[in-house]
Formats: sequence, C-alpha cells, structure tokens
Amino acid sequence: MTNPIEHIESNVRGYSRLFPTVFDTAIGSQLFDANGKRFIDFFCGAGALNYGHNHPGAKQALLDYISRNGIQHSLDTVTTAKVNFLKSFERLILQPRNLDYLVQFTGPTGTNAVEAAIKLARKQTQRSHVIAFTNAYHGHSLGSLALTGNRYFHSEFYGARNNVTHLPFDGYMGDTDTSELFAKMLSDGSSGLPLPAAVILETVQGEGGINVASEAWLKRIAGICHKHQIMLIIDDIQVGNGRTGAFFSFEASGIKPDVVCLSKSIGGGLPMSLVLIRRDRDTWRPGEHTGTFRGNNLAFVAAAAVLQHWADPTFESQIQERSEIVQAWLAKVCDQHASLGFQRRGRGLIWGLDVQQGEFAGKVIRHCFANGLLIEGAGADDQVLKLLPALTIEVPLLIEGLQILGSAIDAAAA
Ligand code: PMP
Repeated sequence: MTNPIEHIESNVRGYSRLFPTVFDTAIGSQLFDANGKRFIDFFCGAGALNYGHNHPGAKQALLDYISRNGIQHSLDTVTTAKVNFLKSFERLILQPRNLDYLVQFTGPTGTNAVEAAIKLARKQTQRSHVIAFTNAYHGHSLGSLALTGNRYFHSEFYGARNNVTHLPFDGYMGDTDTSELFAKMLSDGSSGLPLPAAVILETVQGEGGINVASEAWLKRIAGICHKHQIMLIIDDIQVGNGRTGAFFSFEASGIKPDVVCLSKSIGGGLPMSLVLIRRDRDTWRPGEHTGTFRGNNLAFVAAAAVLQHWADPTFESQIQERSEIVQAWLAKVCDQHASLGFQRRGRGLIWGLDVQQGEFAGKVIRHCFANGLLIEGAGADDQVLKLLPALTIEVPLLIEGLQILGSAIDAAAA
C-alpha cells in the first residue's frame, strides 16, 4: 500500500505539506494521528475550534439530537435546533451586551457571511465602492477575494479587484494615523475615491499577521463611517467568539458596527456562518439572499452547546489567565533572542510572534510538528508564528506547548 501522505499529495489539493501525517482522533486541545502520536493544538482550525475538539457538551447534544431523529436540514424551515440556538445567542450574547441585531444565517463558511455583508451594504446604500485594509483576509470567493489584501491570492485574470480600495491598516505606516488619511481622501476629492458603501475590517488581522487595531483608531474609523453614512462591517470570523477575551472583538472599543460577520467557532466545530444586521440597515426582501446550507441543524445543536461557556461568569477571566501566560512567555522569548528583532502582537488568546523571516518561521513550524505541536504561520511572508490555542486549553498543556515552541525557536536560531 502506498504511503497515505504521498497518495494525498499526488492526488488531492490538500494541506499535508505543513502537517504530514494522518490525524485520527482529537479531544480538547490534543490530536492523535493514526500511529497514536499526540499533538498539542495551537492552530485550532484557524479559530474554528475555540472551545476545543469534540467539546463534551456539543458531542453529547449532537448524540442526543441524532438519536431522537432530530431534523437535519433547515432550509426554509423553522426547527427546534434553530430556535434553541437563537434563544441561547440572544440570552447569552446579545442581551447582556445590550446589542440589538437581526440574525441572518448565511451558509457554512465565513466567506458566505462576508459576501452577504457586502451585498447588503451595496444594496442598502445604493453605492458600490468598499474600503478594506492592507493585510486583510476576508475569503477567496470572487467577492471576498477583492477585499483580501495578500498579493499571493490574487491574479489579474480573476477580475476580482473591482470597486475595492485598500487603505493602510492601523500601524501599517508606523505611528501615522491612517484614519486621518481616509477622512482626508473622503473630504477633499483629490483622490477620486467615491463615497463607499462600506468599510470592512478585522479588529485584529488574523491571517494578515496578527495586526492589532488600537481602540482609538477603531473609534475614529467608526466616527468617519457614521459621519458619511458608510456601513461599518466588522469581520469577527476569526477573532470573534471570545478569541480576544470578550465575545466580540470590538467590545472593548465601544464601537457599534452596522454588520458583524461570524463563523468558525460559532458552530462549535461544525460549519456555520451568520451576519448580524442593525435593524435599520436591513433591506433584504424575503429570500433575496439565500443558499441551501444556510441552516444546518447539527451546527445549531453544537453551537448552542458551546455558547453555554458564556453563562459562566468566570469564562472571560479564564481566557485572561491563559493570555497572561502566553504574554509572559512571549516577552521572555523576545528578550532571549533580542538580537533577532522579534516582535509580538496580539490580544486575548490570539498572539503573533513576528520572527521577520518566513524561512525562520517555517523551520520553527516543522520542528514543532516533529515534536508534537501544531502551529501555523501568518502574514504576507508567513513570517509570523501564530499562537491560537483553544480558549479552554488546560494550563499544563498550554505550558507544554509553549515549551515545545521555545525549543523549536532555539533550534532555528542556533
Ligand atoms: N474572514 C476572516 C477574518 C478569516 O480569518 C477567514 C478565514 N480564515 C474568512 C473570513 C473566510 O472564512 P472561510 O474560510 O470559512 O470561508
């Protein structure tokens, strides 16, 4: 029999390049391959597994739901699974934060949410231009790709750049306030920038290299949007669901987006995406934006189960406790390797260690894999090691993972 990895590599467009093994089972923050080798997970399906693999509550709820022949599909139907999810979401997430949004299910992937948000903004404002930012990542479909900044994903032949302008994200130009540039371009007419329908941004850019927008910058961008009646879309697909320490990544800044995109961990490990729409911004006619898999009951069941973490008043402080462990470790590593000029960026439990070179990061990632830690790179040159442990990771596992990462960095630097 051929080696399964070689078979996959020659027949499938897969990702075994980075993690060349066959994974078999997973629980919490640990995965096991078919040979029984254990891996600690600092990758979390790029933020899709904030509550860990095979979350016990989600697993039990799914088993119960299936064993009583729960309805599997819910296109154009209301189901108990959908109602239960909505009630939990309103009670545990929206109401305590004083947020009043319509919920629209948009399909299985984050891209589906981004597409819906952009379409809605264009329809609602009757304008077509959209502002995105350098290093942004919003998906790969033709609409969402136009918003994604990374040159690697673009080809002039896709024709996907239409009606999008990328402006510099906060910090992209050092201390320069890039929101001022945006305000000036809108008001003085010299750039030819049309009045946009929407601004879309990640408050912490995940794939783009863990670039953190300051609260002040977010407030200024929100202020500009408000002044010009531009729809502010926050893409919380990767950094929502508690990743930054609060359920929504924009909570600390106090801004009130017109639309919020959620996916990844909202489904408790199963595919699901949605947009939250400010009521006065909703201009869809019934059925105008639809799709077969925009209501998967198994995802609703898992989603309602993992939301229960937000009923625990200590949940945010548990995230903070883990965040502090990671931050202290990062400070130590940057200090130890001061001559290499590492930079660290992040919030909550999304942290990037910018090692400045993709080749160096690649060495570290391979060394980690060999020693039982899954971690990925981010940034335009894949030069950022991206630490994304589950919010629920046990502290000893977190520390063990950091030790593996530390040894891999030492080895790459030697
Ligand atoms: N937006 C952000 C911020 C993301 O991180 C991603 C996925 N990495 C997407 C959108 C696209 O989501 P999906 O891959 O599920 O379509």
